[in-house]
Amino acid sequence: MSLAADFEALYGTAPDGLWAAPGRVNLIGEYTDFNDGFVLPLALPHTTVAAVSRRDDGVLRLHSADVDGGIVQLDVAGLEPPPGGDGGWAAYPAGVVWALREAGHPVAGADVHLASTVPTGAGLSSSAALEVVTALALNDLFGLGLSRPGLARLAQRAENAFVGVPCGVMDQMASACAEEGHVLHLDTRDLSYRQVPFDLAGEGLRLLVVDTRVKHALGDGAYAERRAGCEAGARALGVRTLREVSAAHLPEALDRLSDGTIRRYVRHVVSDNARVERTIALLDAGAPRAVGAVLTEGHASLRDDLRVSCPELDLVVEAANAAGALGARMTGGGFGGSAVVLVETGRSEEVSAAVGKAFAEAGYATPGIFPAVPSAGARRL
Ligand code: ADP
Ligand code: MG
Repeated sequence: MSLAADFEALYGTAPDGLWAAPGRVNLIGEYTDFNDGFVLPLALPHTTVAAVSRRDDGVLRLHSADVDGGIVQLDVAGLEPPPGGDGGWAAYPAGVVWALREAGHPVAGADVHLASTVPTGAGLSSSAALEVVTALALNDLFGLGLSRPGLARLAQRAENAFVGVPCGVMDQMASACAEEGHVLHLDTRDLSYRQVPFDLAGEGLRLLVVDTRVKHALGDGAYAERRAGCEAGARALGVRTLREVSAAHLPEALDRLSDGTIRRYVRHVVSDNARVERTIALLDAGAPRAVGAVLTEGHASLRDDLRVSCPELDLVVEAANAAGALGARMTGGGFGGSAVVLVETGRSEEVSAAVGKAFAEAGYATPGIFPAVPSAGARRL
């Protein structure tokens, strides 16, 4: 059955409309977005699609085809961040309604039914897709007139303050603002961005996403710890954020830091910002193959300096590069989730097979491998 038909079966009437928002992968620029830095994500063809109708009676009804359980019914006026961040999946769309209302937008209720092809928990941002599709639908149905970056900011606020996940703004911006055939060069300091052409197919290249299918519990506190470490580094250097430290001034900045851990974190953030700039320069110069080496260098920094990789992610990079990939790195928060591999289209099968074989030999689960085709951002269908 179609999503619209499922909506009608659930709620008794046809939806007002259908909206879609994609998941994303980040090409490079990791753990930079909470340091006011640069990121370079692209939207995936995988989307979360929502059928939504406006309501004006204060009732919010939520249903997901991907979750067992019935309709979640909430009262919009009574929405409060759930204690202990334990609101289940419905906290993501409910949090968007809450954030919109907190910002003064008159969202008076909705019926929502959704289904997604974005793998959840694979570091491909199914959470941002869910938030952004909800925000865009409500923006249209209530005529709020918010910009794409404005919607992304509110979606981030929903995840930070309502769901209770301290994420940066990259995922929501990628889902809201990406364009087909492009990577999004985003400056997270002011949310300014540029669409950079990334014609993988035309160049005879593929960007493979390798979902390791693992998520290590270690990752839970690590994000907050890295974030606090970066903030401590900025304080020690007398800057507002690590964005203010240029690659040229990195050696001097490192000399001024006595704490070895903070030194490693600062080195990662400053060098990864520079790697985003190098990647852009290579893409603008028509030299996308050279991006591979930058990816692999970025992985080493995440593994050795920030220490957010894991054996499965390291094995993807090692096996892919040994089989002739142009380069590879973990993407997203790490400790599992996914890696990206840049490869000549003609070698893509061989490299995928080599990664699969290495995983089998190591006794790991079979990884999920698919090409990341740079796709459109959120839209009304
Ligand atoms: P990621 O964003 O990397 O996929 P997260 O842990 O940030 O992983 O978000 C995954 C969570 O988002 C799920 O556990 C679920 O609560 C919610 N979610 C995402 N997609 C859906 C969906 N289609 N239906 C219901 N909940 C979803
Ligand atoms: Mg997420």
